[in-house]
Amino acid sequence: MKVKLLGAAQEVGRSGILVELEDGKKILLDYGVSLEGEEPQFPLPVKPREINLVAVSHAHLDHSGAVPLLYISGSPQLLMTPLTLSLSDLLIRDFLKLSKYYVPYEYAEVEKAMDNAILKGYNEEYDIDGITIRLSDAGHIPGSSMISIDTGSYTILYTGDYALHDTCLLRMGSKSEFSRADLIITESTYAEYDHPPRDWVEREFINTVREVVESGGTVLIPSFAVGRAQEILCVLAKYDFPHRVYVDGMARAANDLILEDAYLLRDPGLFEKAVDMARKIRDWNDRKKAVEEPSVIISPAGMLHGGPSEWYMEKIMEAEKNAVVFVSFAIPQTPARQVLETGVFASPTKKGNVKARIEWFDFSAHSGRSELIESIMISKNSAKFLLVHGEPEAEKTMAKHVEENGRMAIAPSLGEEVEIKM
Ligand SMILES: [Zn+2]
Ligand SMILES: [Zn+2]
Repeated sequence: MKVKLLGAAQEVGRSGILVELEDGKKILLDYGVSLEGEEPQFPLPVKPREINLVAVSHAHLDHSGAVPLLYISGSPQLLMTPLTLSLSDLLIRDFLKLSKYYVPYEYAEVEKAMDNAILKGYNEEYDIDGITIRLSDAGHIPGSSMISIDTGSYTILYTGDYALHDTCLLRMGSKSEFSRADLIITESTYAEYDHPPRDWVEREFINTVREVVESGGTVLIPSFAVGRAQEILCVLAKYDFPHRVYVDGMARAANDLILEDAYLLRDPGLFEKAVDMARKIRDWNDRKKAVEEPSVIISPAGMLHGGPSEWYMEKIMEAEKNAVVFVSFAIPQTPARQVLETGVFASPTKKGNVKARIEWFDFSAHSGRSELIESIMISKNSAKFLLVHGEPEAEKTMAKHVEENGRMAIAPSLGEEVEIKM
């Protein structure tokens, strides 16, 4: 069989993995867009007509954002969970609407893609001519899945983004998948680091946020709309946060979609409570009121790159009593990264030193170093690992972990087609 990386080769972003089986069948795993830097980066092109199936692991744009491109000249079958469909539809439409750059597809292609979707829940099987595809819980964001391809003689597991630790929002991913697979195409994002213990992070976060609000300040939490915003809401609900919490931007719509599939969450009741305790910002009047009030405001964009969080930041940055609290990895070359590294915020309309308190908490929904090593240790002795979705140093470290445990590691470069004997 052959694997060709159309993206996410020694980089995080624009995932696209083309698998060609011995019988010539081609399966495309994810097709995303990279949002690092100014202009969106798309994966290498592929002929849609030659693809038998596209499977999407989860809704994040770096895994789903290029899928509509495949529907300009083709209509391949598209497999994902129902929640991945509704959330990626939301994110892709928003991406089209807000992109300041040319996006090489239109709403019609988004619609066509969604019309071709075959929806499967976790552990339901889908068959194409004797090949069985199955999605299992990845524990990364609501609806996220690992994808396994069983050819009858061997099994390929694609992890997508996954976590082997519980969060407030989700249970950990399905560990047992690792012991069944012969080839594991794995993310390597945090091969070099372990995340701090979750309950410690939660308590530090709650203490910080309470301190600021109880001294009369406003806390801005710039957050990705899908996944992280809901996790933060759940943390606040878990600790019975007693002050006002606002939710703005697309996080509101994402909450509604996730509520429809709340049974997928670790504690549906906690999420319902979290959504109930948060007030939705509906218009500019609400926004202007919220920034004047000691409160917590959760709003996209997570990197302060457009979205209401950019406006909030301009409003809160000059008062020492306020705080901006980051809860995601700060992507290089974004305003969030600049604030963390230099204390300067620059938007198209404002630039200056941030006098508000600046904090960062590690709420990662990716496996850390120990979890990645665990995934290797529970795999078959003969398993091969193909590394994706990691910076070059991270993939190098991941390869070391794999080899130290006596398995074979392959880290292809962009566009490289590797032949793997199974
Ligand atoms: Zn993701
Ligand atoms: Zn990703």
